Amino acid sequence: MNYSHWIKKAIYNKNKFQKESRESSTITKKQISKHSSSSIRDLYKSQKWEHLIKMAKQTKGLFEEYDCIKVQKKVIKLGETVLINSGDAHDEDYVGTIKQIISIKEPTTLKLICLCRVQWYMRKSEVIKSHPKSNEWVSEQELFETKHEDYILAQTVIHSCQIFTCKEYVDLDEIESTLYFNRLSWDMEKKQFQGLEKLQKFCSCQQPVNPDRKYIQCDSCHQWYHLECVGLKEGELDDSEFFCKLCL
Ligand SMILES: [Zn+2]
Ligand SMILES: [Zn+2]
Repeated sequence: MNYSHWIKKAIYNKNKFQKESRESSTITKKQISKHSSSSIRDLYKSQKWEHLIKMAKQTKGLFEEYDCIKVQKKVIKLGETVLINSGDAHDEDYVGTIKQIISIKEPTTLKLICLCRVQWYMRKSEVIKSHPKSNEWVSEQELFETKHEDYILAQTVIHSCQIFTCKEYVDLDEIESTLYFNRLSWDMEKKQFQGLEKLQKFCSCQQPVNPDRKYIQCDSCHQWYHLECVGLKEGELDDSEFFCKLCL
């Protein structure tokens, strides 16, 4: 076997290949790096998630979808409601429901960018900015469902939380900070509650029930009243009967 001849042939073929395809191969390389690698990195840095997903979907093998994912030892499942780190600027963490879990492969480093599409809930601190009076009847553990969705980095998910109906929440024996309730929706554009008129109102001040506040029931009409609204204090209560103004 003529060994040296074989090597020569191989080199020759390689040169031939380079000569023939140099132009087209450089263009392809340039295009890939322009459209996937550098742009994906740029879009990641600028957190332009919608653009990033659109771009990743154009190249085969970069985009993947999951029912469940493990990120930094935390398991995130489709459909669960989670607490999301809001960063330093906001003193309260956000709450949202996981609607989609995806990963995008960064073509040069092959690192995975894991994203979740979440449907947001609004919290008390956010709705009372537009409706200061609702401060009286909205609970600290109350969440308002919205139609608004965003992509977030999966690593900003803190842990899952539970959302009850208002009745279920009131009946709970123990209340923890990860337990919430939802009875109303919030219109992000109009900055308004949805379904407020359908809620039962209590007390002489006619407000929806707030599980954070103390109530007393009239022994005659069985209506519930805020302690403050009937001039009572928690420490002053005894076993004696209570009659509201209307029943006295
Ligand atoms: Zn009242
Ligand atoms: Zn009464």
